Amino acid sequence: MKRERIDKVLANLGYGTRKEIKKMCRNGEVEVNGEIVKDSSEHIDPFNDAITVNGERVEYKEFIYLMLNKPQGVITATYDEVERTVIDLIDDEYLVFSPSPVGRLDKDTEGLLLITNDGELNHLLLSPKRHVPKKYYAKVEGRVTLEDVERFKEGVVLDDGYKTMPSELEILASGEISEIELIIYEGKYHQVKRMFEAVGKRVIYLKRIEFGPLKLDENLEAGEYRELSEEELLMLK
Ligand code: URA
Repeated sequence: MKRERIDKVLANLGYGTRKEIKKMCRNGEVEVNGEIVKDSSEHIDPFNDAITVNGERVEYKEFIYLMLNKPQGVITATYDEVERTVIDLIDDEYLVFSPSPVGRLDKDTEGLLLITNDGELNHLLLSPKRHVPKKYYAKVEGRVTLEDVERFKEGVVLDDGYKTMPSELEILASGEISEIELIIYEGKYHQVKRMFEAVGKRVIYLKRIEFGPLKLDENLEAGEYRELSEEELLMLK
């Protein structure tokens, strides 16, 4: 049972700065198990104690897990002097948890991006040993052929000489502009775009639709996000 200072717990949940919480405690606004706590340095068990602020029950959580439908035009970073980042799309109530994106999507790529402050999960999902599958939908300039499907299955050689792992390419429509879905099991820089370059084609639209067991929620418009459900979280871990 991990005991923490009450001001730290409440500050992490966004109830104010430690100084503000000290004042709230002194004013008798904070109760633990029905008792007013005047001293904000008191240690409590955030998972098992019943904490209230002004009579409202505090729901404790350590981690947040958000599924974002990343829009085009924002970069996958936590901070940038010039560009808008995916974190700029997230409300303050979650920002107090200092979340970060898991992996990255290019500025012009849309789709599923997981955002969390669970560093261990972040690390696990990105570990090159785990080969977490990522599924993309893309529009590609040029006719994607069954030969490309075979080449992707065998692995293609990228511009830096790296040979990709086997991947699964499905042609949805083939023409001057083709539509495809592609599952890859690794995450090299600009990987999908470079794989198509390797077979002489150009990706003109790219959207990630699955990440590991997660599927992009179709109800999320570009730029919208929601917390993962319990079920999704269980699948991830
Ligand atoms: N591959 C790319 O080329 N870009 C992305 O954003 C993701 C995968």
